[in-house]
Amino acid sequence: MLNFALTAEQVELRDKARRFALEEVLPIAWHYDKKDDLPLYILKKAWEQGIMNLTIPKKFGGQGRGMLDSALIVEEISAACSGIATSIFDNSLGTEPLLLSKNERLKEKYLPVLVNDFKLICFATSEPLAGSDVAGMKCKAEKSGEDYILNGTKYWITNSGVADYYTIFATVDPSLSHKGIAAFLIEKGWNGVKVGETIPKLGQRGSNTAGIHLTNCRVPAENVLAQPGEGFAMAMTTFARTRPIIGSFGVGAARTAMELAVDYAKKRRAFGARLSDFEAIDFKIAEMYQKVETARLLTWKAAWENDSGMDPTISASIAKFYATEAAFEVVSEALQICGGYGYTRLFPFEKLLRDMRLPMIYEGTSEIQRVVVSRYVLDGYKPVMPPLEDFPLLEDRDVHLEKDTVAWRCRICGHVHYGPEPPEECPHCFFPKAAFKKIWPKQ
Ligand SMILES: Cc1cc2nc3c(=O)[nH]c(=O)nc-3n(C[C@H](O)[C@H](O)[C@H](O)COP(=O)(O)OP(=O)(O)OC[C@H]3O[C@@H](n4cnc5c(N)ncnc54)[C@H](O)[C@@H]3O)c2cc1C
Repeated sequence: MLNFALTAEQVELRDKARRFALEEVLPIAWHYDKKDDLPLYILKKAWEQGIMNLTIPKKFGGQGRGMLDSALIVEEISAACSGIATSIFDNSLGTEPLLLSKNERLKEKYLPVLVNDFKLICFATSEPLAGSDVAGMKCKAEKSGEDYILNGTKYWITNSGVADYYTIFATVDPSLSHKGIAAFLIEKGWNGVKVGETIPKLGQRGSNTAGIHLTNCRVPAENVLAQPGEGFAMAMTTFARTRPIIGSFGVGAARTAMELAVDYAKKRRAFGARLSDFEAIDFKIAEMYQKVETARLLTWKAAWENDSGMDPTISASIAKFYATEAAFEVVSEALQICGGYGYTRLFPFEKLLRDMRLPMIYEGTSEIQRVVVSRYVLDGYKPVMPPLEDFPLLEDRDVHLEKDTVAWRCRICGHVHYGPEPPEECPHCFFPKAAFKKIWPKQ
């Protein structure tokens, strides 16, 4: 049986995150957006309150929580500021390769530190010339004894300006494409690590984004997260586990935009009535709510698959591109309901709109999610119905019921011919007899 009810513990967790969002994040969100700066102290508070690093297993001192718990928390924080939510959740993105790694000693070394100290860890696959094309990365990892020497630039890396640890994906040979990719855990301050200036962004300005430049950076063998050839799969599995949460960024921000627009529509008057008395406005409200609910359901479904031990890859992609695109549409409609005021910087929608442009890009663009889903539907999905040319489109029910009826279908135009033999040529498309396939009785 399916069950959409949250446990009492999950309700408590969500309420805790909601209080944190309302009391700590919302009051400062617009200030830090304007400053184009990350409020690091808020991340520290999130860590202190246990709403960060949720997925670190209990055996390393963590909470061992599932993806659904993360989705609940992220929706709440993103409802107040998706930029700050991005920076808080980034620790889970940075930690995921460590959780997936076969290197147990590395887990024992770093995971308890992340639980016990306020440390930030970021995730770096992207480069200046390779984002969607992860296998096209150029950052080089060269073997030197048991160690590796890294050279190259990672770009667009959330929290890299403030992180203590970096999960770096690099290749031993770019010509090997995905088969050459390995992953490494690097510490801030190691020789050869340089972080670039903060990248100025359109939205989510309360999160930090910068590049990392590696020059002859020696990584000891014990800090290898994934051996060459294993890094690409590690990155893809990480995305499958984090993309649903990008959906939650959308759900939270869309929910806020909808709530604000509904409030406005109930109070604002035009033509002697409230805006909410106009059907055109009410239908917008219905669609906004429909999108928020649908986005949340898809996000929860992917999270449930993950927490049930299934591979959430396809559901994660569906949730990501639906929820993030729906969020942008909801914010835009909410702005519309508020008319000219909605377009000003004195109302919240312009920030929400800027912020919601990003989730359609990071952790795999909307286009890449469509690539993932369409490949699955074309190659992996198992159809229930017979293929088109075998489809028993028998129009004449009486003929259909007769035991000795034989039906032939033209594979080109679909015409069905009844008779012991197919016709010499199709009366519709004129293709010869060979174009006909027997569809009844079933072979
Ligand atoms: C604010 C921000 C934070 C980020 N944080 C991180 C981070 O923490 N770690 C990290 O590693 N990366 C991060 N990224 C990088 C992000 O994941 C990439 O920007 C994203 O994957 C797209 O890559 P790109 O920018 O190189 O665009 P490109 O890959 O060059 O794509 C350009 C356009 O072409 C389209 N396109 C590309 N290939 C195809 C295809 N096969 N079919 C159809 N369309 C295609 C894309 O959808 C896009 O519209 C961040 C990016 C931003 C903007």
